[in-house]
Amino acid sequence: MKNRDPGRASGERPRREGENRDWSVVVEDGRAKTNEPVSGAVAEPEATTLRHEPHEPPRQQLPTKLFEKRTKVHNKRIDGPFRRFKWFVMFVTLAIYYGTPWIRWDRGPYAPDQAVLVDLANRRFYMFGIEIWPHEFYYVAGLLIMAALGLFLVTSAVGRAWCGYACPQTVWTDLFQHIDRFVDGDRNARMKLDAAPLGPKKIAKRTFKYTIYLVISFWTGGAWIMYFADAPTLVRDFWAGEAASAAYITVAILTLTTFTLGGFMREQVCIYMCPWPRIQTAMMDEKSLLVTYKDWRGEPRGSVKKAKKDPEKFGDCIDCLQCVAVCPTGIDIREGPQVGCITCALCIDACDKVMAEVGRPRGLIDYATLEDCEKEANGEATRPPWKALLRPRTIAYFLIWGSIGLAMLFALGVRSHVGLSVSPDRNPPYILMSDGSVRNSYTLKLRNMESRPREMEIELQGLPGALMWTDTIGREAAGRMQIKTVPADQVLAVRAYVIVPEGAETQEFSFRVTSRDEQRESVVTEARFDTPEGSE
Ligand code: SF4
Ligand code: SF4
Repeated sequence: MKNRDPGRASGERPRREGENRDWSVVVEDGRAKTNEPVSGAVAEPEATTLRHEPHEPPRQQLPTKLFEKRTKVHNKRIDGPFRRFKWFVMFVTLAIYYGTPWIRWDRGPYAPDQAVLVDLANRRFYMFGIEIWPHEFYYVAGLLIMAALGLFLVTSAVGRAWCGYACPQTVWTDLFQHIDRFVDGDRNARMKLDAAPLGPKKIAKRTFKYTIYLVISFWTGGAWIMYFADAPTLVRDFWAGEAASAAYITVAILTLTTFTLGGFMREQVCIYMCPWPRIQTAMMDEKSLLVTYKDWRGEPRGSVKKAKKDPEKFGDCIDCLQCVAVCPTGIDIREGPQVGCITCALCIDACDKVMAEVGRPRGLIDYATLEDCEKEANGEATRPPWKALLRPRTIAYFLIWGSIGLAMLFALGVRSHVGLSVSPDRNPPYILMSDGSVRNSYTLKLRNMESRPREMEIELQGLPGALMWTDTIGREAAGRMQIKTVPADQVLAVRAYVIVPEGAETQEFSFRVTSRDEQRESVVTEARFDTPEGSE
């Protein structure tokens, strides 16, 4: 509705009778009631927000109840661009979660062919073409840091979009709410059924619904364990009763938590249990995108009928409560930004639909920054919401996030696929041979990080006159270089004996390991040769 308020057309916020009046909060029947204006708008006696009469003097009373019983949320079906986007994100995230363990990835005959696998038994993490070994845990740490920074980036750019669309609690709650709608019907039917006494129809519906909840929850727990073992084999073993007990325990715990958190606790997890909303609140500022009710445009609220009679008196909000009815956390966004708002934007869809029906412009509830809201309320020009993404903090987060990602990709690209660790025998540190020569013993661990067996040269560097043999070669074949075949994707332990002629002193030297293939990857590890002569 355009220019229904001349004050708005001129860019001034309309001032109304009673704007400067005193106001207060009072608790009646355990409910806080106030005559405080809703956000910046001035409350009118006709408006529907709970308040006591404006002429009453301020009162001070302590709350009589510190606990408020949960009101069950029966959110209404809604369609619109944000709901469709939510469908899309839900489909993609669930498909990724349930489907990923079934994706195969050929790594040859010596490594598992599951694309994403946390192989606890062999201490490996496989992710498509990347294989992370235990000594490379810093890559996992890097991924976790990137995930945290990614959340900061998303929060700084689009507020609580993670909470509204992609958080597992949101996705599973949304899924379970669709099950409610499928079994019990939409909001009114569910409220009616809830209020109805327990009878055969209600018992049948509840049984059916909880069975679907259980199947989804069990499937969720089952999908999780498949990330830790070969999925087809694990499924066979699981149903044959031959899987590890940890698998059954994990599935039982995850089934129970999904059933409880997604089926019953829902918005309470977001409002009371999750720390992330509080952290996000601290990270947001007046430039962050929020789902916002434009109170300067909507207030005072009044029905279409009342507005027709007195167009100057009412704002655009017709107080139909559709925005509250569709909200998955059951809050009223018209009360201002609040921790219960996960910014799913379903209230935008609902309100836009209402505005279209009553012939008023869309966007009474919309994505906007508080800064732009202020400007819009003052009649100043505002930026399109996407421009709110381009600001120094968001760009800084993106640059840090991107730099870590690129650094990790670079490190993965250039990393060596051979490795060597050297442990000298310490007891005794050397053996004096009958001919006066001195022998030291070492345990070498040769690492082959490729999924094929590789021949490797073990070579002595430094230590003049020294010769080396191993427990499988024998002293008669001693030389400065030995060759070993390291199985695919394995670490091979080799006992190496190094001998130097009489008169040598304690000194530093190196073992060099080089792959005997086209890559000629090599790695050098320092060691020390001990003699009775002491150090050089
Ligand atoms: S849906 Fe829009 S018009 Fe209806 S109550 Fe909510 S804000 Fe007001
Ligand atoms: S108030 Fe709107 S954006 Fe916030 S949770 Fe409810 S429906 Fe979603």
